Amino acid sequence: MNTAIYPGSFDPITLGHLNIIRRAASIFDKVIVCVMVNSVKNPMFTLDERVELINRVVSRLNNVQVETFSGLLAEFAEQHEPAVIVKGLRAVSDFEAEFQMALINKKINPKLDTLFLTASEKYTYLSSSVVKEMARYGADLSEFVPYEIIDDVLAKSGNRR
Ligand code: ADP
Repeated sequence: MNTAIYPGSFDPITLGHLNIIRRAASIFDKVIVCVMVNSVKNPMFTLDERVELINRVVSRLNNVQVETFSGLLAEFAEQHEPAVIVKGLRAVSDFEAEFQMALINKKINPKLDTLFLTASEKYTYLSSSVVKEMARYGADLSEFVPYEIIDDVLAKSGNRR
């Protein structure tokens, strides 16, 4: 079975993340969305909340599962071999850090490849930080996050629809 591991902080999951998950799910037999512990400082959502939100959003994608991991990504990948890491590339600004991470992961585990999917044009501007900022002002989040989680994001930031 060929497996893709899609790591990130997902604080919270956005339509950009979901776009990458859907596309990976159509290429690979299995996609594991891996919520990395300690990947964000002062997260808006706890780890368990982030996992619950992602599960809600991917519930109809049968070959997608959600896990958490607190160690090195290369170690997580080793537990699921053979697997590749999938990442979304939004802009040139993502490239340098992502390229460096891919090389480090390969250094730790030479069998581990990283595959980059180009962000959908619609979502190149989108990040979890943008979502949090918009939520703080009670903005319409329908273009940013999956509809199933809009109320949770607004409620967390002290706003309700
Ligand atoms: P963020 O950068 O939004 O805080 P994460 O750390 O959770 O997000 O990102 C996990 C992965 O998802 C990274 O590979 C990142 O490049 C990718 N990603 C984030 N936002 C988007 C988007 N809008 N479109 C495509 N890929 C994205």
